[in-house]
Amino acid sequence: MKNLMFAGCDIVKLAEKYKTPLYIMSEDYIVERLREIKNDFLNRHEKTRAVYASKAFLTKEMARIVHREGIGMDVVSGGELYTAMKAEFPMEDIIFHGNNKTIDELELAIENNVGRIVVDHIEEMDLIEEIAKEKNKKVYILFRISPGLESDTHKYIQTGQVDSKFGIPLTEKTISSAMEKALNLEFTELLGFHFHIGSQLSDNENHIKAIDIMTKLMKKVKDEYGFITKELNTGGGYGIHYSEDEHRKPLSYYTDSIMIEIEKQCKSYDLERPLIIIEPGRWVVGEAGMTIYSIGAIKEIPGIRTYISIDGGMPDNPRPSLYEAKYEGVIINKIHEEPTEIVTIAGKCCESGDILIWDLKIPKVERGDFLGVLSTGAYNYSMSSNYNRIPRPAVVMITEGKDRLIVKRETYDDILRNDL
Ligand SMILES: *Cc1c(COP(=O)(O)O)cnc(C)c1O
Repeated sequence: MKNLMFAGCDIVKLAEKYKTPLYIMSEDYIVERLREIKNDFLNRHEKTRAVYASKAFLTKEMARIVHREGIGMDVVSGGELYTAMKAEFPMEDIIFHGNNKTIDELELAIENNVGRIVVDHIEEMDLIEEIAKEKNKKVYILFRISPGLESDTHKYIQTGQVDSKFGIPLTEKTISSAMEKALNLEFTELLGFHFHIGSQLSDNENHIKAIDIMTKLMKKVKDEYGFITKELNTGGGYGIHYSEDEHRKPLSYYTDSIMIEIEKQCKSYDLERPLIIIEPGRWVVGEAGMTIYSIGAIKEIPGIRTYISIDGGMPDNPRPSLYEAKYEGVIINKIHEEPTEIVTIAGKCCESGDILIWDLKIPKVERGDFLGVLSTGAYNYSMSSNYNRIPRPAVVMITEGKDRLIVKRETYDDILRNDL
């Protein structure tokens, strides 16, 4: 076999059938991760819930898979919520986040009875209460707390530090005004707290520190307001394999330590342990995906560097240009050929920053060979754009060795669709 096999498929055949660039997702891999959540978290610990952070990768088919496997979903926009609705995802299993939910988005969420809304700032409660009253609905909320922790990840994907656009800062004054407001609402009920400290975290240290900070908060609001925390949402952020020095750990590496710490801290403060929620996104889908490109222009700058250009780049994967994310790539039709060259993989956009991979070791290639970039299941399709008016690639899902199209390739007319 000279071609790469992925999820039981000859990837070259898929590239020829669906054209490139092409996103390929393995349903078997996604289901394996969702079942790991069930077996190693939900079934191992009582009073727990899991939701998939849909911003990592969401289509109607993905929503159906997540629901079929019995996992909930979090959304951060009206568009994600609408996708879930159209996939008939049960609204009570939805958690709605966002640092600036618009009134329209809140109305859509409340009208459709989403399970939880995570309040990001104090005034948001006024908006929620007003809409809930108007629609005569009961709304359950959690407070997103910014625990003041710096996590060891790129600064654009840190989210729990003091200076953050996310969450209610943990200061005496803000917490007391948030609590006083929440406890006086009629249509809105506070159930507990949420934190999400960052993404692509390779150790569990900051989750443990955040639990300590949150249990202290739970103790304080119990003493001062008689408020019993019923739910604690511990966010996501579990890392995956992208390149040699980044590896996916089993879910239990994070969740067992979260559960041990919460039990310990609740015991020491004499608190009843709340329901614990987790929200992994990248960890569920990241390694399930790969992107296939065709190689075009090859430019050798003698003594400096060889640029291999592909038929995609920044519009289908903005992460390298956004935060210097690293990826591994392989020539999928020359999988067993000796890697003899060190090249740089360039996207086709009019931006010097549109470089997908620096210094990749590959065999000698020519126009028409296929490059596969690995671990593109998370934050690729969901972050894609039409920059340079490039149509978005199709998405193909593979299940037990069988491929099916789940998102059609965009056409030039799709790009013109809303032009007047
Ligand atoms: C993005 C996000 C997640 C998931 O993050 P991953 O790093 O993909 O696991 C979970 N919760 C919230 C609130 C988020 O914004």
